[in-house]
Formats: sequence, structure tokens, C-alpha cells
Amino acid sequence: MRPKEYLLSTIKRIDRRGFKAYNDIKGAYDFGHFILSVDHVQGDPFAAPSRVSVLVGLTDSGFDPSLFTTGIRNVAAADFITRTFHRAILNTAKGSRGMGKSGMIAINTPGQEVIKRNSCLIINDSTKDTIEVRFVVGLPAAGRTILGHEAIAIFFDEIPVIVNKALSAKSVNVDDFLTHFNAVEDQKHLQGLLSEKGLSAFVANGSILPRKSGVDDRPLKSDVVPFQSPKSLEVSVTLPHKGEVTGMGIRRGVTLIVGGGFHGKSTLLTAIERGVYPHIPGDGRELVSTDSKAVKIRAEDGRYIEKVNISPFITNLPMGRDTNRFSTENASGSTSQAANIMEALEMGTCLLLIDEDTSATNFMIRDERMQELISKEMEPITPFVDKVGKLHKDNGVSTILVMGGSGDYFDVADTVIAMENYVPMDVSAKAQEIAKRHAASRTDEGGDNFGDITERTPNPASFNPSKGKRDVKIDAKGLKKILYGRLDIDLVGLAQLVEMSQTRAIGNIIHLYATQYATKGMTLHKGISLVINELEEQGLDMLVPYKVGNLAVPRVFEVAGAINRMRTLKVK
Ligand code: ADP
Ligand code: MG
Repeated sequence: MRPKEYLLSTIKRIDRRGFKAYNDIKGAYDFGHFILSVDHVQGDPFAAPSRVSVLVGLTDSGFDPSLFTTGIRNVAAADFITRTFHRAILNTAKGSRGMGKSGMIAINTPGQEVIKRNSCLIINDSTKDTIEVRFVVGLPAAGRTILGHEAIAIFFDEIPVIVNKALSAKSVNVDDFLTHFNAVEDQKHLQGLLSEKGLSAFVANGSILPRKSGVDDRPLKSDVVPFQSPKSLEVSVTLPHKGEVTGMGIRRGVTLIVGGGFHGKSTLLTAIERGVYPHIPGDGRELVSTDSKAVKIRAEDGRYIEKVNISPFITNLPMGRDTNRFSTENASGSTSQAANIMEALEMGTCLLLIDEDTSATNFMIRDERMQELISKEMEPITPFVDKVGKLHKDNGVSTILVMGGSGDYFDVADTVIAMENYVPMDVSAKAQEIAKRHAASRTDEGGDNFGDITERTPNPASFNPSKGKRDVKIDAKGLKKILYGRLDIDLVGLAQLVEMSQTRAIGNIIHLYATQYATKGMTLHKGISLVINELEEQGLDMLVPYKVGNLAVPRVFEVAGAINRMRTLKVK
């Protein structure tokens, strides 16, 4: 490894030369208390910024190594350091100067969730004890002329200060660090307790559920009603750090969330949706925990569907279309919602989360009068109300459903929660009593059983990541779109995708799946589960052949969700 003076003299030498000369700074340099490595140099000032990483010894950092043991503690620590590093950049870097991305320093910016990423890797075993942080730097230039002075300022003034602020126990607030750890560890523990308590989800008293705005996921600060469970649904759990915590336990089975418009129904469901991930302290949803296999389901008209067995919900389509292997380039609201459910079941979900706001009405309900006017023979759809109970009985899959608009669900709900001015009430008994008094004269059209869930095996020829001269061209375009070869994969239907780094990883996981697993003739469920296992074991770095810091681990459901939405997907 070269001394840092070598980097200094190289930059001085290439000052004012053409941008290509920046290639000479590639390599690793000893900065004394850390190693700086320029891993990739951008082609010009407007290209994606250069990839840089820093490495410090765990002992040199001064952090207590016991904080970095494997598993969730490691994830929490890496998450904390990424956030601290991000803040240090904001407080230190002068930022944009020169052309294009000149002068920018940036690290993959996390949202409110704590997930496994590769922006920070902490290795603490017999072979190594290091903390590595990966970020990007826009190498400064005027036009295509290297601005050496500015580059020196970035590498010798700014980055060492940022490293000092984020990677040294002396400058990091150790209490904050511990709070972060403990909060994440508690959440993992809480999620583990759900099944033994027979719960689908848990929402602690005092949780803050509403968000700042539809585009800002931070907690709402003013005029907030903190969450308070009705007494009858209260459950207490004991967590390793927080001790005893009490909140609302949503039991397995069918749960209905009712209440007037604007009374907080969707806000509660969204918090539950996100409860599959841990949250950072201060988020307000730290102790909202949901079965890790929960999937949010919505209608998504226009989506592509490839040979999904939607027959539990839809049969007898016009023109005799097969609904055991239903395919379309342009799904309707109801067929898309049916396919979304069946695909989630195919991947092994245990809990469906459904909001009337984003559902197809004719998929959710069909009342007595309509049953009389349009006979069952002329209606292909069996509404969800006639299947939701059977889904639990036959397959053990629970549902939490927001439904303010129809009382038909009272007959099938195990629990009914009413939101009143953001306060939940247990109205199960009252709903049952009403259901008895106004016995529904609609007919159950769902048959005796839920029906079959059919696994599918993708054809390897479905996957072609090449574009133009490139054999593999895969990228994320925002949170909800993947560019895969010449294909755009639209992910707006996947509500539980929370970071663009997950989206980016999904693109690469599809490629890994296509090349290593799809060729082996195994089902989508098996293949994706194996890919994710491999990823958990080997780390995100296996996904791309060079060092990057912008990937995060997604869930199997979102990976399968992306493959299912590929318009080139063909199933055997
Ligand atoms: P619904 O689905 O019942 O129509 P929403 O969940 O969409 O209602 O909530 C309506 C509004 O109330 C939203 O702007 C939301 O941010 C706000 N809100 C939800 N829960 C709370 C709460 N506990 N305290 C304050 N405001 C809330
Ligand atoms: Mg709503």
C-alpha cells in the first residue's frame, strides 16, 4: 500500500490535465489511522461519481468490539455508522464545486428502516476486525480539466474529518450508539415473540404512527394522538432492553379495521406493513412489529400476469379463458388483486394486509342485491369476503383488512377494531351482535375450501439482461422501477419495498437467479428462497463483481414480486 503522500503528489502532477488522468489515483493509501481506497474512477464529471472506501481497524476505532457480534447487532451497528457518516458528510463537505457532480461526497442514505446494507461492513472474527465504509466522490473538474486543489481539499481535509467524526468512539455519542443497538435488538426480539403469542402483529402503546406527509416518512410531530390499545386487546411482552412493554396484540385470524373516513385506519395498516422491518429510535414505530412474512396486497390494474392460478377467486371468464393458468398483458383491478394474493401465497406469506383504499371493490364485496341481479354464473369473481375465512382455516394465512365501507365482513372477522379519532376500540362483540341481528341474506359463494395454490417454474429464457453492446445492463431508477436489459420493471405495487438500495439489489438478484437457479428447473419459491439464503450467508458483495456500497437486502416477496412483473416472464 502507498503512503498518502503518494496520492498528494499524484494529484499535484495531474492538476489541470484532462479528466482521464484521474485514473492515476486509483488504489489504496495509508492515512495512518485509516486506509483510503479509490476503487473506481468515473469517466467524466457528469458520469456516476467515483467509488471510494475507507477502512479502520475495529480496535483503532475505539468501539467496544462486543457491540459488533454477528447477526442483528452487526446490522444495527452498520446502520448506525452509515447514518453517522451521512451526517458527518453533511456537516463537513463543502459539496458541489466545478462541473457536474464535482465535489459531491455521498453515502447510500437510509430511510427510517434498519436493514442489512453494504454501505458499511463490519467484520469482527478471527481473520479480521475492521470497519469499512463505502461512499462516492464526484472528482472535481472544470469542463474536463482536473481541479487538483479541490481534489486535495476533498481527500486531505474533508474525508479525514468525516472519518474522524463517524468512525471514532471518541467523537461518536456512545449513548446514541447503544440506544440504536438496543432498540433494534428489542424489535428483533419482539418479532420473534409474535408467533408464540399467537399474534400477527403488535403495536405498542405510545407508538407514533402518522407520518409527516405522504412523501416524508419521518414521524408527524404536532397534534399527534399516540397509540393506545383497547384494554381487551392488550398484550404485554418482555423485551431484553426495554423490559415490559404493553400494546395491542392483533391475533391470528381475520382482523377487520373499521371506522369513519380520516380516523386513522390506513395509517395503522401502513405502520403494520412497515413493521416487518426494525425502525430507528425516534421513528415512533420502533415497537410496531409484524410477522416477517406479511405482504401488503393491492389492486394494480394494467400489470402483467403470467400463468397464475387465480381460480380460488376467479373462474368462468368470458371467452373461456383459463384461470388455473391465467395470463394477461393488462390485468383488471380484480384480476390483478387476485394474482397479487396468489403470488404472495405461492411465496409462503402468512399474513395478508389489505386496504379498501387500494382495492378493487368488486374483488372485496358482492352484496345480496347484486347477487340477485347478476347470477353467480355471470360473475367470474368470488369476492374476498367468501374466501378470507377459508384461507385461514385451510392454509393458516391470516388477514388484516381495512374496510370502512361494508359490514359484510362482520360474519367472517375474528376481531373488529374501530378507529375513532385515531383511538382503536375493540368492537368485535358489537359487530357480531349486529351480524346476528341483521343476518346477511347474501349467499356465500366461496365453496367449502379456499382452493389450490399452484407453484410455478419460470423458464430461463424469460431473462435477458442485455442492452445494446452490454451483456448485462441492470439498474434501479428510483425506488419503484428496475431497468433490466431493455425491460422496465414497474414495482409500484410493492408497498414494502422501502429503499432504492433494495430495488438495486433486486435487479442484481434477478440476474443471479436467472443464471444460477432458473436453469435448474426449480420452482420460483424454491429458487428465490435459495438465492436469498445465499445472499444472507455470503453478503451483498456477491451480487456485483466490483466494490459498491449501494445495495440492501430485500425480502423474498419483493424479489418474486419483481420477477412476476417482468413482461418477458414465461412460466413452464
Ligand atoms: P382513514 O384511512 O381512516 O381514512 P388515514 O389513516 O388516512 O385515515 O388518516 C387520516 C389523516 O389523519 C392522515 O393525514 C394521518 O396522517 C392523520 N393521522 C392518522 N393517525 C393519526 C394520529 N394518531 N394522530 C394524528 N393524526 C393522525
Ligand atoms: Mg384510508
